[in-house]
Amino acid sequence: MVNKLYLVTPRGFCAGVEMAIKALKWLLKVYDQTIYCYHEIVHNKWIVKEFEKKNVVFVEDPKDIPDGAIVMLSAHGTSPTIEKRFNQISSMTINSVCPLVTKVHHEAKKFSNENTQIIYVGHKNHDEAKGALGVSPKNMHIVESINDVDKLDIGENVALLAQTTLAKSEWEPIMNYSKTKYPDLKMPRKSDLCYATTNRQQAITEILPNVDTVLVVGSENSSNTQALVTMVENNNVAAYRIDDVKDIENLNLKGNIAITAGASAPDHIVYEIIEQINPSELENFKPIEEAEYFPLPQQLRANIKNVADFLNIFNTSGSYPKSEFGISNDKKWTATEALNSL
Ligand code: SF4
Repeated sequence: MVNKLYLVTPRGFCAGVEMAIKALKWLLKVYDQTIYCYHEIVHNKWIVKEFEKKNVVFVEDPKDIPDGAIVMLSAHGTSPTIEKRFNQISSMTINSVCPLVTKVHHEAKKFSNENTQIIYVGHKNHDEAKGALGVSPKNMHIVESINDVDKLDIGENVALLAQTTLAKSEWEPIMNYSKTKYPDLKMPRKSDLCYATTNRQQAITEILPNVDTVLVVGSENSSNTQALVTMVENNNVAAYRIDDVKDIENLNLKGNIAITAGASAPDHIVYEIIEQINPSELENFKPIEEAEYFPLPQQLRANIKNVADFLNIFNTSGSYPKSEFGISNDKKWTATEALNSL
């Protein structure tokens, strides 16, 4: 029997995920053909399946798209070499990389141009890490642990960057060790760990003293979801990652529980789980306000504006949707609405 369930905010979609989902939906709206997406648009099983049903094909290599295809590159960032190959084959490639990932790519480029060796703290098989390492493969060295840093023999001119979605508990020990090993270590002025990852971890940290268990909604390959689970477990509280409501069937949930969601998890799954648990009491817990918004990729906005202007030439009946529903008013439209309208 669950006594009290804390619904923690901020949770779920971050500004980067919102932007990428809406960008892909815009391509489906405008182009009546298969859209090819490099990597999962965001790391969530349910979202990927919904897009697949609507004629989006997810690929892992530019050779898997036909000549002239329309392509979207995922929120996690793409290595410049791969992006170039997509550009050569496609008729249009839209890059829906999160601006906070782009920031790390810019830092990698800057340090690399200064002939600095770069330690990149990240998960070796994660799409974001693969994209970032592609910025300067010769200068960048991925590490997952202090032991990995210890083994490096790369001179003294060294910089430290990070995957945006790491748990603080993964990042901080490696950062501190690197600072000791490399006294002149260069680092970006602003942390690479993104606001959404940090806020979700901070919010759940604040509720931990009140709960016996934390449920984290999100898919297995979602790094920030895994970071939330790790962070809770490191504080000696039970944590379960839940993809959908079926995953709670075999859990013996009791006492007080908190529920949160990784940055790519849709909120309807959170509410289905709450309904299934049916706690005696439900309390909203919102220690942090979040209001970030990232505009759609510039190339997509320009492309859709051109299409809209072209259609308007023939719009003598005034029957096309008003501009308030158009791309320039994207801020009023949410990714949840975009997914509901698929
Ligand atoms: S989790 Fe952070 S870095 Fe990743 S898409 Fe969201 S805002 Fe961008």
